[in-house]
Amino acid sequence: MEDLPGILVVLSGPMGVGKTTVANRLLEKGGYLRSISVTTRAPRGGEVDGVDYRFTSVEEFEKLRDANELIEYAQVVGNWYGTPKQPLREALKAGKAFLLVIDVNGGQQVRGKGYDSELIFLAPPSKEELVKRLEGRRTEDAKQQTLRLERADMEMQVAAEIYNHIVVNKDLDTCVEEVHSLVQQARRKLLERKQAGETLYPGLDMS
Ligand code: 5GP
Repeated sequence: MEDLPGILVVLSGPMGVGKTTVANRLLEKGGYLRSISVTTRAPRGGEVDGVDYRFTSVEEFEKLRDANELIEYAQVVGNWYGTPKQPLREALKAGKAFLLVIDVNGGQQVRGKGYDSELIFLAPPSKEELVKRLEGRRTEDAKQQTLRLERADMEMQVAAEIYNHIVVNKDLDTCVEEVHSLVQQARRKLLERKQAGETLYPGLDMS
């Protein structure tokens, strides 16, 4: 059987829903790579430059953006975040599922560019649960937490309009398996299109 082709997977969801945990569990499965975003946000305790994010200055971020080196970028509660282009090409060529853990504005940009991609939104079981998880995190001050909660409703709305799937993260194992099976299903569809002679990943110079 032919190997499944690489795919761009966008994983979004309100802050505190568990995107990073789900992404890490998918990475453990093999066949996945994670995009490392560039951000102007300051590192949180324990975060490592080049592993969690590439932490950068606003000037450096603007340089990358203006050189068209970012697939998408967005300002999220006061900080800039963006996805560098080159690692995506390399991951797709290597047949990997390339995970972008980004906000819904980023997802919108990816969709708008027509890349072959699967957009998955992780939703909390309830708003109360999200509040609890954000409070448990204790990495943000109260103002940041309020801003982050206010975004959640907007994000749900965008997801309902343009994302391929909304998966509720109630139980971590179930959620991971569900996301994985959606990704595999999307890759099987890509394989069929490839076998029918279609060129995959339009808009990305894959040469
Ligand atoms: P945090 O500061 O909590 O790490 O991330 C804040 C938000 O920015 C999250 O919703 C996260 O998914 C999003 N984010 C992280 N990297 C990127 C990126 O490269 N592009 C976009 N559009 N959003 C990102």
